[in-house]
Amino acid sequence: MNPPPATVVSKYRGRLAPSPTGHLHLGHARTFWIAQQRAQANSGDLILRNEDLDSTRFKMEFVDAMLEDLRWFGFEWSEGPDIGGKFAPYNQSERMSFYRAALEKLRARNFIYPCTCSRKDIQAATRAPHANDDDEPIYPGTCREKGFNLQPATKFSWRFRVPDGETISFHDENLGAQKFIAGKNFGDFVVWRGDNVPAYQLACVVDDAAMQITEVVRGADLLISTARQILLYRVLGLTVPKFFHCDLMLDDEGERLAKRHDALSLRKLRERGETPETLHQNFSKKCL
Ligand code: GLU
Repeated sequence: MNPPPATVVSKYRGRLAPSPTGHLHLGHARTFWIAQQRAQANSGDLILRNEDLDSTRFKMEFVDAMLEDLRWFGFEWSEGPDIGGKFAPYNQSERMSFYRAALEKLRARNFIYPCTCSRKDIQAATRAPHANDDDEPIYPGTCREKGFNLQPATKFSWRFRVPDGETISFHDENLGAQKFIAGKNFGDFVVWRGDNVPAYQLACVVDDAAMQITEVVRGADLLISTARQILLYRVLGLTVPKFFHCDLMLDDEGERLAKRHDALSLRKLRERGETPETLHQNFSKKCL
């Protein structure tokens, strides 16, 4: 008799994926803190990935500040740009070959099409209201059926053709059942930008899969992006991780915390003499 097959127990792998476009603020810290707690509760690993693809917005000084602020706050990662690891590199700017390979697969299988529309064109052609919590207007489909007759040197992005009318459902570990309708809640989305930069949706899926992330913890503002990304996992034949979307932290006026809320940046809080311990305690009281 053959022995029963060994059970493969996959270890929990979570990640922190900050973009170095400004100083980290309390909203990021809170989401990351939940990510770290979930990794610890599951005796898992936490990976740090530096999402530095957008060279028009990111600055080197923010990368150093980011690492320092994260360490000061009490984050500990076992793989990352500063310490390496088995899925290195952990700077997205050094992972272009992975994104190009994924783009090539999408192109060869006809899931994407070139699009010459600018943001302005789309806004002008879009009458549909923006989807909730997601500031991406629904693409009106102008370039969908045009084919590949582009003039040489035309600037274009690659857009993913969503299966109109299909409901994309997933279970969120925090918020429960989620459903979004392709073509209604979100439209065809950019996977490669006109300035030759892979878009967040593609880079994130490629990296989360390559780094064998088992659960993605991020803000609830990215719920619709998760639906988009599930489509990419599917067509690229990649394993879909679990998702845990955190409620967003709001300021006193009910506005979402953003990087422009400089007063709540970890830097400023530290300068004002706040300690990480007090901030952790506040998180446990108010948010978790
Ligand atoms: N770099 C992205 C951000 O900071 C990551 C989002 C995600 O966790 O997928 O918004």
